[in-house]
Amino acid sequence: MPFSSLNLSPSLLEAVAERGYAVPTAIQLAAIPAILQGRDVVASAQTGSGKTAAFALPLLQRVAATPAVARGAIRPTSALILVPTRELAAQVGETVAALSTHLPRRVKVAVVFGGVSINPQMMNLRGGADIVVATPGRLLDLIDHNALSISALSTLVLDEADRLLDLGFGEELQRILKLLPEARQTLFFSATFPPVIEALASSMLRAPLRIETISSSNTPDIVQRAIHVDAAQRTQLLRHLLQDASWSRLLVFVATKHAAEIVAEKLRKYSIKAEPFHGELSQGKRQQVLHDFKTNTLRVMVATDVAARGIDIAQLPVVVNFDLPRSAVDYTHRIGRTGRAGEPGLAVSFLSTTTESHFRLIEKRQGVRVPREQIAGFEPTETGVAIDSNGGVKGSRPSKKDKLRAAALNQR
Ligand code: AMP
Repeated sequence: MPFSSLNLSPSLLEAVAERGYAVPTAIQLAAIPAILQGRDVVASAQTGSGKTAAFALPLLQRVAATPAVARGAIRPTSALILVPTRELAAQVGETVAALSTHLPRRVKVAVVFGGVSINPQMMNLRGGADIVVATPGRLLDLIDHNALSISALSTLVLDEADRLLDLGFGEELQRILKLLPEARQTLFFSATFPPVIEALASSMLRAPLRIETISSSNTPDIVQRAIHVDAAQRTQLLRHLLQDASWSRLLVFVATKHAAEIVAEKLRKYSIKAEPFHGELSQGKRQQVLHDFKTNTLRVMVATDVAARGIDIAQLPVVVNFDLPRSAVDYTHRIGRTGRAGEPGLAVSFLSTTTESHFRLIEKRQGVRVPREQIAGFEPTETGVAIDSNGGVKGSRPSKKDKLRAAALNQR
C-alpha cells in the first residue's frame, strides 16, 4: 500500500518522498490512521522499523491543521515527545523537523535535553513551540523556569516507552503526567514492553489500540553469533575479528563507563580508530563521537547502554556485546542498532564460563538458540565450558546468582 492511501496531506507526502521512503512500513500502516483518528496507541514494533515517522507524520498533520498564531503571540505546545536519551531527542527532533519542511504553515519543533546549557533552550522556547521533543529531566527544569507550559497539550508520545516508565525515570514521569491535561491522546512506542510496564501503561491510556507488528516476516535481518572466549582475551579477539573487511564499522557494548574507556584505549594502541561513548562524557564530546561514528570517521564506538535505545546509525554492519547486557530487553535494543530499515546486520556476543548461563536466559526470553562458537587461536582456557556436539554447552549449572538474575529477567 502506498503512503497516499494514509490520508496524509500532499506536503507530508512530498517530505516522505524526499526522504526516500517508497512505501509505509508495517508500523506506519497500522499506527498512522489510528493516531489521525485521535486514538491512544500502544505500539510495539521492531527496532529500526520506522517508528519515528509513524508518530511524527500524524502529529504534524494535526498541528498543521490548527490555525497559525498571530505574529508575536506564543505558540501553544500541542505535542510533547518524551525520549530517554539526549541523542535520541536530537535524532527524533531532526526527523520531525525534516518531515515538516513542506507544510503550508511553519511548525516549530523545539528539542530540549540535559548536559548542555539551559539558556539557549530557554531563548528558543520564548515564542513557544508547536512540538517539543524532550528528555524528562530537562523538560521539568524548563517548566520550573516558566520557559514552557504543557498544560494545553493534545498529544503525549513516549518513545522507548518501557525505558521511560522504568524506575530510573519513574518520579520525573509522574511529575510530568501531573502537569498534563487529563483529556489528551497518549501514544506509547517501543520494541519491548515487559509485563510490569504493560500493566503500568494500561493505567495511563484510554482504550488504547494495541499494535504489534513484530512477526517473523518483518523481524530485522540480524544474524546472531555467540563466541566463547576468556574474558582477558576479548580485546585481542576483537582486534582479530576487525581484520574482516565486512566489519567496517562496529558498535561495541560494554557494562561500565570505565570499561568503555579502557577498551577504546586498548584498540587505539593498535591503531584502530576507537572512542568511548557513555554518560560521563560532556554532551559536546558525546555528540562529536556519535557524529564521527555516523559519518564513518570513527571505526569503533565503545558504548554503555546509553547508546542502546533508538539511535539510528545507517548501515551499521556489526554490534558486539563485549559484556552481556543486564536483561533480554537491553539485548533486543542493543542488537537492534544493526539490521535497520531492512538492511542485514550481525550481532556477536562474547561469552565466558561465568556469563554462559546469563546468555541462556537471554536466549530463552528471546525464544532463540544461538550456536556457540570458538575462534581458532582464542579457544577458552577457563574451565567449566565444553561445547557438545550440537553446539550446546555442557557442564555449567545455574548458580544461586543466576537464578536470582533469571527471576529479575522474568520481571522485566
Ligand atoms: P526509526 O525506527 O524511526 O528509527 O527508523 C529507522 C530507519 O528507517 C530510519 O533511518 C528511517 O529514516 C527509515 N525509515 C522510516 N520509514 C521508512 C519507510 N517508510 N521506508 C524506508 N525507510 C524508512
